[in-house]
Parts: sequence; C-alpha cells; structure tokens
Amino acid sequence: MSVKRQFIAGARCPECGVMDKVRRCQTEDETWMECLGCGMKRMMDDEPAEVSAEPEAVEQAVIWRKL
Ligand SMILES: [Zn+2]
Repeated sequence: MSVKRQFIAGARCPECGVMDKVRRCQTEDETWMECLGCGMKRMMDDEPAEVSAEPEAVEQAVIWRKL
C-alpha cells in the first residue's frame, strides 16, 4: 500500500519539541503523524492535526514528497 508523506511546515513534535521534522502520513485506511527526530507516531483519525494556528499558511508551505 502506498503511503503519502507530507511534511507539516511549522509543526512542532509533541514528544521532542523539534520543529519541521513532523510529517503527516496517509494511506487509504489510516492517517498518522510521525516525527523524524524521535520516532513519535500518533494516529490522527480521531483528533485534529496539531499544526500551527494558521491553516492557510501551512497549506501553502506544504511540501509533498514521494518515497
Ligand atoms: Zn519528536
């Protein structure tokens, strides 16, 4: 199954506090957030994305990467 991975600009990892290492991962069935700094993973199905308070700015800064 393919996984879409999208870095979340301006997002801060809730575990280690590092910025710009958090990315949103999505398959057909699941959506989760992971941190490249500490390996944190958090499912996002039942809670809103923890991104900055300016969703429009985040959207513009999003970088899509195919792995
Ligand atoms: Zn982290």
